[in-house]
Amino acid sequence: MYITGTHFNYYMICKRKLWLFANGITMESTSELVSLGKLIHETTYPQRSERFKEVEIKGIKIDFYDQKNKIIHEIKKSDKRQEAHIWQLKYYIYVLEQEGIENVSGILEYPKLRKTEEVYLSDIDREEIKLIMEKIEIIIQSDDCPNKLPRTKCRNCSYSDFCWSGEDDNKKTYYEKDLLPV
Ligand code: SF4
Repeated sequence: MYITGTHFNYYMICKRKLWLFANGITMESTSELVSLGKLIHETTYPQRSERFKEVEIKGIKIDFYDQKNKIIHEIKKSDKRQEAHIWQLKYYIYVLEQEGIENVSGILEYPKLRKTEEVYLSDIDREEIKLIMEKIEIIIQSDDCPNKLPRTKCRNCSYSDFCWSGEDDNKKTYYEKDLLPV
């Protein structure tokens, strides 16, 4: 099984989300947030098709690859910068490197924020990515679904209904209880 950019992104956001997604429980197609993301993706840079290549390789899909300058452009709908976005892009760079394409860099683009961020891969990142890939494999292959995050972190998650429907708002998950002061 290939580890995809989505696996990498979800690992950073929530281990449970990663497990649910990897085990075939997907909510993304019905999520309004995801629809918004797709809309932004399709309408923000309609003129790009000729300048950029779509690349699908080893389980990852890069929508906008500037082959001439070896730059991956990744567009995010989010109105805030997230570490998960950076690591997903670093993972794309890593996969291209593994395929023999060197000196690749990335640019994260946030149309709603009107901001961009350059992303590079360091030797430390390469080692970290190898470790994360091992951890992703372990989580995905586990029979046990990881615990929920505290509910405050679930607001924009497409699995929110799945994880929380029927739950008492005041009921704490084990994870939350662990965080409570003794
Ligand atoms: S709703 Fe919360 S606990 Fe459930 S998958 Fe999403 S982030 Fe994780």
